Amino acid sequence: MTPGHAEQAKLLILDDDPAIGQLMTEIARNAGVLAVSTTTAEDFFQHLQTWGPTHLALDLVMPDIDGIEVLRQLGELTCQAKVIIISGIGSRVLEAAYRSAAEHGLNVAGTISKPFSQNQLRSLLTSVEPNALGTAKLAEDQIPAKEELVTAVSLMTAIETNQIEVWYQPKVVCQTGQLVGFEALARWRHPQSGLIPPDRFIPFAEQTGLIDLLTDAIYTEALAWFSTYFAEADLLLSINLSARSLSDIRLADRIAATCQACQIHPERVILELTETSAMADPTTTLDLLTRLRIKGMQLSIDDFGVGYSSLIRLARLPFSELKIDKMFVTTAMQSSESQNIIKAIIGLGHSLGLRITAEGVEDELAFKFLQQVGCDLAQGYWLSRPMPGPAAAQWHCERLVS
Ligand code: C2E
Ligand code: CA
Ligand code: CA
Repeated sequence: MTPGHAEQAKLLILDDDPAIGQLMTEIARNAGVLAVSTTTAEDFFQHLQTWGPTHLALDLVMPDIDGIEVLRQLGELTCQAKVIIISGIGSRVLEAAYRSAAEHGLNVAGTISKPFSQNQLRSLLTSVEPNALGTAKLAEDQIPAKEELVTAVSLMTAIETNQIEVWYQPKVVCQTGQLVGFEALARWRHPQSGLIPPDRFIPFAEQTGLIDLLTDAIYTEALAWFSTYFAEADLLLSINLSARSLSDIRLADRIAATCQACQIHPERVILELTETSAMADPTTTLDLLTRLRIKGMQLSIDDFGVGYSSLIRLARLPFSELKIDKMFVTTAMQSSESQNIIKAIIGLGHSLGLRITAEGVEDELAFKFLQQVGCDLAQGYWLSRPMPGPAAAQWHCERLVS
């Protein structure tokens, strides 16, 4: 299938988020379009020269690359490929970028906002008239729904047939090294592709509406593991919640019921929400978080320091823990800026009565630094990588005897 002419359509993607790149690649391939995904401008321009794409999909907002600058360079190269501009920052910015691309003489196929639907991207890839602002038409017979269903179905099958595994990473007290608990981290053991990391299927589950099913499978397995090995131990279990789960008003009840079935006191469960999701829609978030707290679960703000928290919201939301984003911790020993941010977060968190966990502790120096600056808890490869359930239980036993 080609978009209106005999040439094989080829899509080159530039998005700093590999999950989005992967998703677009899958959608394109299902539409009969060859696709390659890149995450850096350097890689992108190299593929542009050597691979000869017919379409380009460009994320506008990337941390290290300026999407507008990429458009300008494409203009200088008098690039003939059809450009699809993608962004998560609102339609006015998209429209401005569209105009700027057109001014650079680029052939803009259209723009799409994140989160986008499969049909939106497909219609831009297969449109004959490359001129619409995301409104290009797609012939019904060009939609090969079967392969695309297989992808959603394969994740669903994975959930239903227990291909989703939960691994566990220990969390320790900074001053003493004593184990305080584990964080549950999802993995997909795919029959053909092997172990797939969460960054590659959780965003997909969020986009396809499978996240609630997936979340239920993960905490159910994690709580069963926890009650098998640590029913009597004085340890905590951290579980990650997706931002999308915040609109699922029954979630608090379901987790509480699973805790009860596993005979785990809800106080031993910490639910982790990223800073960005926790600070999003104020009313629904506050409702759900309060419900979770009422049921007894503890709440933690994950990836703190990279989002934009208002201090008043931070003080008012019912959190008990704050996790410093690993970006600051992994760079602490090379960057005084990271060190200062870590110290500031610890000061802020403590003044609000929150426990502080640093994740991404990759070496002893970083651990020592965290001890010096009064961080409460630590997690990271240097202490232990995430492990499958039985190995994590074994790790705990070995530390008890040594
Ligand atoms: P996260 O919640 O921030 O989890 C920490 C990630 O850092 C994990 O990656 C962990 O393996 C990794 N990590 C741990 N120690 C170190 C270290 O010393 N250095 C470095 N560089 N990385 C370290 P993982 O398991 O690949 O998970 C990635 C993300 O996927 C998680 O980030 C979380 O946002 C999401 N995720 C994982 N499991 C679940 C889940 O069950 N539900 C939801 N909604 N999201 C999940
Ligand atoms: Ca986490
Ligand atoms: Ca984190």
